[in-house]
Amino acid sequence: MRDFVCPVCGMSVDPERTAWKTEYEGETYHFCSEACREKFLKKPKKYLKPRPVKRRRHSCCG
Ligand SMILES: [Zn+2]
Repeated sequence: MRDFVCPVCGMSVDPERTAWKTEYEGETYHFCSEACREKFLKKPKKYLKPRPVKRRRHSCCG
């Protein structure tokens, strides 16, 4: 089972039990509460983490 996390506050949410969700740029986001959903809708980019950046390999020459 996939784990869903409220993008606003970081709480884990059960997508089958939460009533608050929204779609943004093709992804469905689940929220723990209406308040979190509203915050997200106002500024979705604030809460979307950028895709993880691959760490550069440690370089001997810094
Ligand atoms: Zn939340």
